[in-house]
Amino acid sequence: MIDCHAHLAATEFDADRPAVIERARGAGVRRIVVVGEDPGDDRRVLEVCARHPQVLCPCIGYHPDRFAEDRDLPTDDAIEAVARLARDNRAQLLAIGEVGLDYWYVRTDARRAAQRACLERMVALADELALPLNVHSRSAGHQTLALLAACGAQRVLMHAFDGKASYAARAAEQEGYLFSIPPSVVRSVQKQKLVRRLPLESLALESDSPVLGPDPGVRNEPANLAHAVRCLAELKGVSEDRVREVTTGNARRLFGGIS
Ligand SMILES: [Zn+2]
Repeated sequence: MIDCHAHLAATEFDADRPAVIERARGAGVRRIVVVGEDPGDDRRVLEVCARHPQVLCPCIGYHPDRFAEDRDLPTDDAIEAVARLARDNRAQLLAIGEVGLDYWYVRTDARRAAQRACLERMVALADELALPLNVHSRSAGHQTLALLAACGAQRVLMHAFDGKASYAARAAEQEGYLFSIPPSVVRSVQKQKLVRRLPLESLALESDSPVLGPDPGVRNEPANLAHAVRCLAELKGVSEDRVREVTTGNARRLFGGIS
């Protein structure tokens, strides 16, 4: 299995990261795609992934929640620093991310416009470096999909999509976008609806560690992909082996270059 979206460089894992990775491998997770959220976090992602190159694959980006009103607005220089870091480390990178739109945290028109401008720059960066995108959307599913399509983004993973299943189905069919499902699917009616609506060929697995686990409030980790697999197998009426096989193939095709 491939965990397509995890925050494994987060401080929550500083005390026991090697044990977390071992448990993931024991549960059949071969690769963990680690996403970054801002220039500082992106550097940490590169360092942490370099320590575990067989399992961890780095992505770097600018998380849309950094545009929230209670934070300093990200500067052009900070966004450019992410682009420079991506160019300098192109050989190691699996994707650009975490990027996207978040209209739940970010409420004002001015901040949302800045968020959209940043996403457009990140799509252009992914295009320049021939990399796929690892995309967040919250309360902005439709807007995120529309902006990505308008920018011509072609290789896209939508992580923990919270928008309408019908928008997701259209993006999966028309744009070939992949939607990754976290272990919290076991307790989320919305995620279960998304799984029912999309073909298995448009789905992937993610943990979003340390959040979105099967138990709210408990630190999530990549080994918990097993919970999502069980739930997907039930919802789709197929074996767990089939879920693992198809979602892994989907992720490999999207990201390329990972075994
Ligand atoms: Zn995330």
